Amino acid sequence: VPNKLPKVGTTIFTVMSQLALEHQAVNLGQGFPDFPVPQRLVDELARAMAEGKNQYAPMTGIPALRQAIAAKTARCYGRAVDADAEVTVTSGASEAIFNAILALVSPGEEVIVLDPCYDCYEPAIDLAGAIPVHVPLDPVDFSVDWQRVRDAITPRTRMLMVNTPHNPSGAMFTADDMAALADLLRGTDIILLSDEVYEHIIFDGRRHESVLRYPELAERSVVVSSFGKTYHCTGWKIGYAIAPPKLSAEFRKVHQYNTFCSFAPAQWAFAAMIVQEPAHYDELGAFYQAKRDRFREQLLGTRLKPLPVPGGYFQLVDYSAVSDLPDAEFCRWLTIEKGVAAIPLSPFYETPPAGQRLARLCFAKVESTLDAAIERLARI
Ligand code: PMP
Ligand code: GLN
Repeated sequence: VPNKLPKVGTTIFTVMSQLALEHQAVNLGQGFPDFPVPQRLVDELARAMAEGKNQYAPMTGIPALRQAIAAKTARCYGRAVDADAEVTVTSGASEAIFNAILALVSPGEEVIVLDPCYDCYEPAIDLAGAIPVHVPLDPVDFSVDWQRVRDAITPRTRMLMVNTPHNPSGAMFTADDMAALADLLRGTDIILLSDEVYEHIIFDGRRHESVLRYPELAERSVVVSSFGKTYHCTGWKIGYAIAPPKLSAEFRKVHQYNTFCSFAPAQWAFAAMIVQEPAHYDELGAFYQAKRDRFREQLLGTRLKPLPVPGGYFQLVDYSAVSDLPDAEFCRWLTIEKGVAAIPLSPFYETPPAGQRLARLCFAKVESTLDAAIERLARI
């Protein structure tokens, strides 16, 4: 049979969730909340379905949702985007990432990714017939060495992919990073694909450095986000892409044949939800910061060493005091023998740093789930 993605097996998220289920482990692996979505959202979804909003939505997304996204973008990042020409609703950020790469990158062109990176980036690049170029982040604090990115640019570089807040590390770009990024891309025709799905899960008063705050960058960028992360509904698979009209037009050529449109009733529900005051997304940082702080405090009673978490809902832990196993084996052992599922970092890399002993734990969980995990982790 054809084998277009020879390096790809089943994603680590599926593998670890399956293993967690088989061994009744507390699942802190795959990133998803175990608490309900806001009741208002459920009510709006039910209402949309009852009112008959069940047929194809417009290809680009219902106008009310695109306008709500544009209004949120202006409110959060001070950028006026054209809801008709620049906003496209997609079936999750994943679809948006695939569309952007398939629409904008040609076979033989290069796409720079910063390792570790989310696992769908490279397969999308491969399917486009393009060449992934991996530049490592700092192995300790996951910051970008912009000179290394500069050195990776060639005449064939078509796209650079960035992700802030970062999965798996939680690292966030600073204003200095944005200045370096603008400097790097100035005078090139490189497109920036900015994955900002954790844009509202930010801690300690930090500011999310959206590409949309920087006109010079926004003019060459596709920015993707996901309502799954913001509204606790990863299974609904609704996200969006914001890009200048010419890039959006190309993006939509793929979207219209890939899915045509995304789940219509949910679009109506989000359109109602986003404009609600006080905004749910404004409170998300504080909501998750309380979880983060409590979980980190509890981890001090274990032999796992928590790394800093500036944003996102993942806690990296250094397990070198517990085990010298490579991370994939450690996470299997932790799940099967100790009853807590975690995600190894190596699947996020082309070449994992030698000797790295880190695992990712998701703290988007109710207190009783985290307590149950900690009780088990305290015994390893
Ligand atoms: N990018 C990153 C960094 C993610 O963590 C995720 C979700 N795991 C996605 C993209 C995909 O988002 P969605 O579920 O909306 O497709
Ligand atoms: N983004 C989620 C994570 O990083 C997983 C999404 C998925 O399972 N495809 O855990």
